[in-house]
Amino acid sequence: MSLANGRPYLAIPGPSTMPDRVLRAMHQGAPNIYDGPLVEMVESLWPDLRAVAGTTQNVAMYIANGHGVWEAANANLFSRGDRALVLATGRFGLSWADSVRARGVTVDVLDFGKSSPVDLDRVEQALRADVTHSIKAVLTTHVDTASSVRTDVAALRACLDAVGHPALLAVDCIASLGCDEFRMDDWGVDVMVAASQKGLMVPPGIGFVWFSEKARAACRGNDLNTPYWDWTPRADASEFWHYWNGTAPTHHLFGLRESLTMLLHEEGLPQVWRRHDVLARAVWAAFDVWSQGNPQIGLNVADPVHRGRSVTAARFGAPHATRLRDWTEHRAGVTLGIGLGMAAADDPAYHGFLRVAHMGHVNAHMTLGALAVMEAGLVALDIPHDPGGIVAAAGVVAQAERD
Ligand SMILES: *Cc1c(COP(=O)(O)O)cnc(C)c1O
Repeated sequence: MSLANGRPYLAIPGPSTMPDRVLRAMHQGAPNIYDGPLVEMVESLWPDLRAVAGTTQNVAMYIANGHGVWEAANANLFSRGDRALVLATGRFGLSWADSVRARGVTVDVLDFGKSSPVDLDRVEQALRADVTHSIKAVLTTHVDTASSVRTDVAALRACLDAVGHPALLAVDCIASLGCDEFRMDDWGVDVMVAASQKGLMVPPGIGFVWFSEKARAACRGNDLNTPYWDWTPRADASEFWHYWNGTAPTHHLFGLRESLTMLLHEEGLPQVWRRHDVLARAVWAAFDVWSQGNPQIGLNVADPVHRGRSVTAARFGAPHATRLRDWTEHRAGVTLGIGLGMAAADDPAYHGFLRVAHMGHVNAHMTLGALAVMEAGLVALDIPHDPGGIVAAAGVVAQAERD
């Protein structure tokens, strides 16, 4: 007997669960890329891609995953010998920094550790110390998928403005776009990168770089750019193939059309953000109960203000997180995320961490189901915890309906 038989739920923070509608939209023969339905449909994507990012400015698309759009942003942002300031709040800022450094750009990293938000005082000090304004761009992660720390991007913009530093502000929203509130223009963001396989609910394979007019002007002629990565022809295409500097990602585009319709024209972005907020708070409520009197259990980010709404990083104490993940996957059909960047895979402490994704095409029954399965696993495996997390999570969902 296995209670895992039935529809499995992949609750890892990317790739996320995809709507059947998105998959069905992709299920068709190869389309003509010179004219016809695909070419006509693609024109409808651009206004929606701007809307999902909260911008009226520019967007370029790439056939790439998240690492690929980092490269795209780097190629456009920098010239040889430029400097970048990277704000790291977990794992992903450090990886973006590595990719910038590999381009020959000088990178200063402010590392805020694995559980803490950006400390704006340290950012201010670093900017003030740069009296010659040699820092070309400040790079940050909106929600770090490893730590689940969320950055207050508007406050960061205010910090740059208060110092009067002209650096461009570039934000990685790969884990958060379409889940967590983000307003590119209102928050003064110059460059934003995202990819298809998380909040946008499309398979991995397309990535996006949104850029402001200010960034366009500041980056014109940068000598690290190449024709393939250049965002200008992609954003201002005069021929269809310019959008991708080659063949279009045909089937992903059909999927993307469907997901943007769902997010923007059916549910509505504010409602999408609210859904993720409620589901995130349901997860946190369960942990608040399980951890009572059990300090080995806990959420990675202490203050809810600094927590992302698409993924929650947590600890159960080694080896319980790995035991629980194995149990939920093999005994109950729910796959939870591994702990990422908290301890090396060959360190016994690694087995103390996991992540619960609540990203993209998720609803109350999926998140409550995942939490109930986790609580069943805690009991089945004799992992010390306070019972009743699932009751608290259900209470959050019920309360949200009343608010
Ligand atoms: C997933 C993710 C990435 C990397 O994306 P890939 O598609 O795996 O290359 C980068 N940054 C953040 C914040 C992410 O969540």
